[in-house]
Amino acid sequence: MPTPSPNPDLRDLPSVDEVLRSETGREIAALSGEKAAADLTRRVLDELRADIAAGTPVGSGKTHFLERVILRMTQEHDAARLAGTRRVINASGVVIHTNLGRAPLSAAAKRAVADVSGYCALEYDVSTGRRGKRGRRAERLIAELTGADDALIVNNCAAAAFFVLTAFASGGEVVISRGELVEIGGDFRVPDVLAQSGATLREVGTTNRTKLADYERAIGASTRVILRVHPSNYRIVGFTAAPTLAELSALSQTRNVLLYEDIGSGALTDLSKLGLKDEPIVRDSIAAGVDVVTFSGDKLLGGPQAGIIAGRFEIIERLRKHPLYRALRVDKTVYAALEATLDSYRREAYDEIPVLRMLSMTKDAIAERAERFVAGSQSPDLSFEIINGHSAIGGGAAPNVQLETRLVAVTHPAMSASKLEFALRTNKMPIITRIVDDRVVIDLRTVDPHDEAELIAGLQRISEQTVSKSV
Ligand SMILES: *Cc1c(COP(=O)(O)O)cnc(C)c1O
Repeated sequence: MPTPSPNPDLRDLPSVDEVLRSETGREIAALSGEKAAADLTRRVLDELRADIAAGTPVGSGKTHFLERVILRMTQEHDAARLAGTRRVINASGVVIHTNLGRAPLSAAAKRAVADVSGYCALEYDVSTGRRGKRGRRAERLIAELTGADDALIVNNCAAAAFFVLTAFASGGEVVISRGELVEIGGDFRVPDVLAQSGATLREVGTTNRTKLADYERAIGASTRVILRVHPSNYRIVGFTAAPTLAELSALSQTRNVLLYEDIGSGALTDLSKLGLKDEPIVRDSIAAGVDVVTFSGDKLLGGPQAGIIAGRFEIIERLRKHPLYRALRVDKTVYAALEATLDSYRREAYDEIPVLRMLSMTKDAIAERAERFVAGSQSPDLSFEIINGHSAIGGGAAPNVQLETRLVAVTHPAMSASKLEFALRTNKMPIITRIVDDRVVIDLRTVDPHDEAELIAGLQRISEQTVSKSV
């Protein structure tokens, strides 16, 4: 083998064909197509030429250059392979992880999505053979489960809030407590959504205390809506006051304005057994006399991304006929996933819904899984320790609730925690972990038991790679 000399010769660069004929070149072409492989080769060769022109030390010699180009192509191809909306294993312990797709769908919801992906009876009534109403079954299930007259599904809760305010408050005033002018999840800001809808904000009360009389005084000729917002990821504690929904409902009726509540996380059932004591239940809001509510499909409800609007007949009907609805409506797969999820609620089969199942797992049950997991993950150079820790609900719900868990702490004698975290994250099946006290930790609460074998395989692969590199 020629030893790399300090003066690289451009004539030693491989041709595009030569690279494409290599094993790596053929592999990349098989996976991504001939054109993408050729484009990548040209780009990597151009980079190398530019480096040589700039005097960057790049070595020299035919063999060295070919190896260098192939290595660079493998790296780029691997990075591209990891990009995109792909499946990952969530071992972070954050149940409703916004960056990881929020609520994982139930087995039945996943099947339903696959099932309707081809042709399906989206706007077709199979029994009459005539045109049917889009999403009717999901809407009926929402009505049944919340006690509302009717419901409508849009893209997400932000769209739902924007839609309700645009349809009912544009050009008028919306009265809201100062304590509820919140920002949720970084980019949903109540005042911004209000402004965008063409409504004028009328703030009442103070950050910690707002009284019924404050609302009463603020309502005028141009008031259209009293808006109540569940602060979701934010709590004001201590000296606080707010009128009840029933009081606001009575006031809105006498003054002939709409009472709208943006609930956000949307619990369809009482979750206090799971430690979520102050998450509002949609049914309670409807029973208290709220005219219309909005909530997310993929937070505590545990279904697909969707914004659910539930309320009085005439309100929902007006929204259904509004031109904006056409722009905000959802895909058939969303209805399918939502129907399957709501069907589990209807049968009170809460354990079928992953979010509720994960939230209800006890520390003891997780400890048992962790022990079995460690026993099954034995590898020559990874060490495991089971320690106490906390999982998080995430998704902006119940910020003051901490779920106790047992974590599997993983260490490797030759790898720092951040190196190990990176290796797991960039594994063929990306494994998302957390680092606590300088150790990588795995929280099995958010790992589907069916994914455990793949998680163990990922750990073993890292251990093998580091062994083969050190010899
Ligand atoms: C999360 C949340 C939203 C935004 O919901 P998306 O479904 O993410 O659009 C709106 N309002 C409240 C109160 C929320 O908690």
